[in-house]
Amino acid sequence: MNLHPTLQALLARGPVLTDGAWGTQLQARGLAPGDTPDLWNLTQPQKVAGVARAYVEAGSQVILTNTFGGNRFRLAEAGTADKVKEVNEAGARLSLEAAAGRALVFASIGPSGKMLMNGDVTAEELFAAFSEQAAALVRGGADGLVIETLADLDEAAIAIRAAKATGLPVVASMVFDSGKDKNRTLMGVTPEQAAAGLIKAGADAIGSNCGQGIAGFVKICARLKAAANGQPVWIKGNAGLPKMVDGKAIYETTPQEFASFIPALLAAGANFIGGCCGTSPEFIRAARQRLPDQQT
Ligand SMILES: [Zn+2]
Repeated sequence: MNLHPTLQALLARGPVLTDGAWGTQLQARGLAPGDTPDLWNLTQPQKVAGVARAYVEAGSQVILTNTFGGNRFRLAEAGTADKVKEVNEAGARLSLEAAAGRALVFASIGPSGKMLMNGDVTAEELFAAFSEQAAALVRGGADGLVIETLADLDEAAIAIRAAKATGLPVVASMVFDSGKDKNRTLMGVTPEQAAAGLIKAGADAIGSNCGQGIAGFVKICARLKAAANGQPVWIKGNAGLPKMVDGKAIYETTPQEFASFIPALLAAGANFIGGCCGTSPEFIRAARQRLPDQQT
């Protein structure tokens, strides 16, 4: 095990509370279906900063950024592939200003949206795209990088190698929501395979986010922890599975129900805990009550 100094300092006082969903919070502030959330860093910076600030005020010790889709392939879908630098720099800076020293900013890097195995994109093209995004996030002042919501271990490994070149700590988190027991990624990767592959590529922490409700994360967390070779484990579960009502995704898990799984996640070895889709600052506030008291 080789713990990055930033993570070592963060974890010295115990488990770390991260943030909740960004997409649903931006929608609550007027982001329309089909809009590209990342472009709001340039067009609606006050609203993006408002999400970041709400998580800091709820007690998040680490907040992410509105840069999940900030790679050139995803931005190209909105005709803005040339905006990678601006979108990511602004995203990191907005979270940093909102945190104002009260939380660290780990910038979000989501999947490319391209399929390596189909030949949509080459490994070299992916590496270049993730390198471009990571460099812009560093220029914006990010304290760490979080590669999240990945299903393909090869793509994750490429993103990790690109992110590691910045020198920042790199968290790599995959979605385990497939197979009959919902414990594999869409590509069939198990938590043990993920742990081995992510660490081999250089991840400083490994984890799981999105895809299913928080209840399903306890077993996955324990399996990641057992295979993590001492590296910290990052967990961000959803507020249950969404129900579609009038074309809108409704998440039915309450903040209190969500927080009731925190003790089990801690027992399973989680080091970083937060929420993914459907969670809000209320979920983070409730989760905070379940974490051990920390001296500040
Ligand atoms: Zn999610």
